[in-house]
Amino acid sequence: MISLFNSREEYVKALEGRGDKLRSFFEKSAPTREIDFHKDMALYLEDITVSFDGFKAIDSLNLYIKKNELRCIIGPNGAGKTTMMDIVTGKTRPDYGTAWFGQNFDLLAHSEDEIARAGIGRKFQKPTVFEKLTVFDNLELAMDSDKRVFPTLGASLNSDENYSIEVVLDKINLSSSSKKLAGSLSHGQKQWLEIGMLLMQNSQLLLIDEPAAGMTHQEIDKTAELLQLLRKEHTVIVVEHDMDFVRSLDSDVTVLHQGSVLAEGTMDKIQNDPKVVEVYLGE
Ligand code: ADP
Ligand code: MG
Repeated sequence: MISLFNSREEYVKALEGRGDKLRSFFEKSAPTREIDFHKDMALYLEDITVSFDGFKAIDSLNLYIKKNELRCIIGPNGAGKTTMMDIVTGKTRPDYGTAWFGQNFDLLAHSEDEIARAGIGRKFQKPTVFEKLTVFDNLELAMDSDKRVFPTLGASLNSDENYSIEVVLDKINLSSSSKKLAGSLSHGQKQWLEIGMLLMQNSQLLLIDEPAAGMTHQEIDKTAELLQLLRKEHTVIVVEHDMDFVRSLDSDVTVLHQGSVLAEGTMDKIQNDPKVVEVYLGE
């Protein structure tokens, strides 16, 4: 087990005001001699368990994602992929376990809003762009409002604000469509716009649910390129079913099954793992 704390002081501070369950968990991971907590960890989930009506949707899940990593999560329906994302974003509270965003942000001690503001952004499977607004206005609305001088649509943007929208437009391949209504975009372009909206919020960790679903081959290839680009400045977790797409991302893959990790590693390793073939790929 990875020690959660860099020093004895950090550990003692973390114990303050905690319930018995968390205290006993922390005590188990008290730093002794060697301190091996990875400084470059973006997301740290350990022993996460959550039940719905007695059924364990997530069962002792451990997941460690490094900064600037692109990680694919695959697994059969009901494996717990969406519930895992719900826990990271604060929508669902686990019954047990530890969840940290970076070294200092305890996900279980913060609300959904606080978690979003701390830099975790999520894109749901179905795009939720404002169809009657232009692409540009959608991005403007999503802009981190703390940074906006006049937080109303239509108020003039300063040059930095304009620039930050143009940078995102370029990344998501929509520069030439910035004045189009979002409703007129293809399904794939709407997905990119929604990823762009996450970028406007300055999210550090991006959780992206099935970005390739319903896309054309060409859009899928562009989406893979976009995700590769994003990992340079963000940490990206992608839930996806399309195995060709997952392979093209050339990232580590985690296979979830019955709420815990069945296998983890490169796509080649995963595809040749008999356990994975049995529960998932062999379907
Ligand atoms: P996946 O996204 O991998 O398909 P989910 O995380 O959606 O899996 O679901 C995992 C399991 O938890 C499923 O058996 C699902 O029916 C159950 N589940 C998820 N959310 C709830 C809920 N709010 N209430 C009851 N059961 C749920
Ligand atoms: Mg799901």
